[in-house]
Amino acid sequence: MIRAFVLFFALITPAYAEGTLYVLCYHSFQGRKTDYDVAPEAFEKQMQQVHDLGYRFVRTEDVLADRVNGAKNVLVSIDDGNKSVEAIYDRVLKKHDIKPLLFIYPNIINRSNVPYAMTNDQLNRYLREGATLGAHGYYHLFLNEKQYNKDKKGFLKEIYDSRDTLESRFGHRPEVFAYPFGVFSDLARDEIKKAGYKYSFTIVQGPVLLPLARNADPFKLPRFLVTKTSWKNVLAVLERAVRNR
Ligand SMILES: [Zn+2]
Repeated sequence: MIRAFVLFFALITPAYAEGTLYVLCYHSFQGRKTDYDVAPEAFEKQMQQVHDLGYRFVRTEDVLADRVNGAKNVLVSIDDGNKSVEAIYDRVLKKHDIKPLLFIYPNIINRSNVPYAMTNDQLNRYLREGATLGAHGYYHLFLNEKQYNKDKKGFLKEIYDSRDTLESRFGHRPEVFAYPFGVFSDLARDEIKKAGYKYSFTIVQGPVLLPLARNADPFKLPRFLVTKTSWKNVLAVLERAVRNR
C-alpha cells in the first residue's frame, strides 16, 4: 500500500513541477533608431504588458535550482553591458522586481574610451541587488569554426577568460553563457560544456522547458530576441501561451 502510494506521487510530481520559461533578450535602452535598441518608454510598456498577462518575472538562480514551475514565467536577459541599463533600472526593473540576467563581455566594462559601456560601479550595484552575471565572450567574437581555425587561443579566451575575468573582477562566477551574436556552433558548445558552464543560450526562438533537464540540449537553450520590430511577435507568443492554457 505504501509502495503504491509512493509510486503514485512519483508519477504525478514531475507533471506538477513541469513548467515553461520565456527568456527575453534585450541589448540597450538608449532611445536610438537602431532596431536592437528599445527605448526606455517602450521597455516600460512591454514589461507592463508581460505583467498584465499574468507572467511572473523569475530569477536565474531559481531557474537553475529547478525552483520555478508553472506556465507563465519570464526571465529578462540583457546582453553586452550597455550603460543604458541605468535608464530602465529604477524605473522598470526595480518597479516590477525584475532581477535581470546580464550577459557581459568584460573587455569593454568600465573603459572610459568606450562611452556606451557600463561602469564597474553600475554592474556591481546590479549584482548586489540580485542581478545574475552570465558570460558572453571576452571580446564578443564569433565562436564558429572559422574563428577556431584562425585563432584557437582567442576562441578559448572567449569561453574561459570571460568567466575567470568576470569572477575575479566582480566576485560572481558565471554558470551560464550566451553565444556572441547568437551564433551557435558545435565547437563552441563542446568547449563551453568542457569549461564547466551549466547552460548556454542562443537567440533561437522558443520556450525553455522546466525543469531544465527536459530540454534536448542544455547548451542550446532558446531565447526571444526583442527588438523594436520583433516585440509584436514576442508579445503574440506570450498571449497565445496564456490563451492555450
Ligand atoms: Zn552580444
